[in-house]
Amino acid sequence: MTNQTKENYGFHFDNSYLQLPHEFYGKVKLNPVEEPAILLLNRTLAKQLELDVDALFTDGAPILAGSQMPNEAAQIAQAYAGHQFGHFNMLGDGRALLIGEHVTTNNTRFDIQLKGSGRTPYSRGGDGRAALGPMLREFLISEAMFALHVPTTRSLAVTTTGEPIYREQIYEGAVLTRVAASHLRVGTFQYAANFCDRDALKELADYAIIRHYPQLMHAENRYVAFLEKVLDRQASLVANWQFIGFIHGVMNTDNMTISGETIDYGPCAFMDHYNRSTVFSSIDTQGRYAYGKQPQMAGWNITRLAESLLPLIHDDVDEAIQLAQKTIEQFPTLYEAYYYNGMREKLGMLTAELGDEALVDELLTLMEEHEADYTNTLRALSENKRPNKPIFQSPNFGEWEQKWMTRITQRGATLEEALKVMQSVNPIVIPRNHQVEQAIQAFVEGDTAPFLELLQVLTNPFHLQPEHQKYTQLPSEDEPPFVSYCGT
Ligand code: AMP
Ligand code: MG
Repeated sequence: MTNQTKENYGFHFDNSYLQLPHEFYGKVKLNPVEEPAILLLNRTLAKQLELDVDALFTDGAPILAGSQMPNEAAQIAQAYAGHQFGHFNMLGDGRALLIGEHVTTNNTRFDIQLKGSGRTPYSRGGDGRAALGPMLREFLISEAMFALHVPTTRSLAVTTTGEPIYREQIYEGAVLTRVAASHLRVGTFQYAANFCDRDALKELADYAIIRHYPQLMHAENRYVAFLEKVLDRQASLVANWQFIGFIHGVMNTDNMTISGETIDYGPCAFMDHYNRSTVFSSIDTQGRYAYGKQPQMAGWNITRLAESLLPLIHDDVDEAIQLAQKTIEQFPTLYEAYYYNGMREKLGMLTAELGDEALVDELLTLMEEHEADYTNTLRALSENKRPNKPIFQSPNFGEWEQKWMTRITQRGATLEEALKVMQSVNPIVIPRNHQVEQAIQAFVEGDTAPFLELLQVLTNPFHLQPEHQKYTQLPSEDEPPFVSYCGT
């Protein structure tokens, strides 16, 4: 093809994953689609990746839909297993195709993956396809997360296939181009530990270390050091989620990366009024992945990683268990440190003092009691405003406010300094579920304007712009509670 040789759209592939034993992936046969068309292209990201944006936009649709491959493509699906809602299953990329690892001139490596491009060796009963709505949702929310300073996979494009996909209804088929530091998951290690031999597990672990944490190759016990590192990244990541009221919704071990990036935007949603038991996902009937349980579930997942690494940690099983145990026990303390340091910042407390944690918890309890909107309450405090809301009128808030004012102006700090920091970490806008749904609905029906406006607003969540105001509105009282569905 002529357009394949056209500088390969700027893609420079170096597919290191293919050096792993064959059991870690399966070759994917291309599934050419009817009529590929790029609906969304993330030009900023494409430029950062040093891609040829114009060529990609003009001629790249067949590649981004998985109908053709660029030169040197890997064209594989990755094998992994995972605990889904506590139950262990063999999984793998059932609807994702890894085009390859794109390496930029400063030697940064990115997986370029097509989500929804058709069947793979791991599709089991599925069609490997995705509907337009959920792919638009992943694009919007992952880009919003990035703007909110949360580590995340990115979205390069949404491409329609021109083919219908069949679910409980018929939808338009689409493919999301996902960009990730890698797609190695806790579940990749569970796969190796359960279905491969020790040598393969070791190759995987060394590969992950070299790819993400190369300095650990020289550690005394590099597998313990690796476990510590992933644990640290995940503790920090979940704290980041808590800061903005993000509920992942499906924190299965296959949806937890080794890199510490948020992955797999299925039934995720954002909390409006503060409540630790908030769940949106229709399939999470037990509240396993409720807002307040996310830290605990991350710890549970890390324990599954630790189990998988046991054969590498020490030849003596008891010794290995002890070492792993000692490491994973650090999770709650580490998480709390990340969490309270971040919350301290969100409340403008610029030094660490005794009693800070209680002050944070007291405010959250007040929010819970008064059903106060988490984002708007924190932003109002950051702008030193007290809008006409029940929380701000309550005597308990008055008491809290006095303690807080005394606290933030302690040690010579000024209120202005505190507010400035607060405004830099408390967003004005988050992807509110009702607005996201409306924008996606309109897009699917042909009106792209609301989606593009929302995307624009969410890309700049900390600086007030005139159009921000309407996106701080809560759903109206008579709207039914938001329920999210898995994006298949
Ligand atoms: P997810 O809920 O996206 O994390 O997916 C869980 C598992 O189901 C993964 O192994 C996916 O590859 C697989 N899967 C999800 N949707 C499909 C589909 N339409 N066809 C085949 N496999 C799928
Ligand atoms: Mg997944």
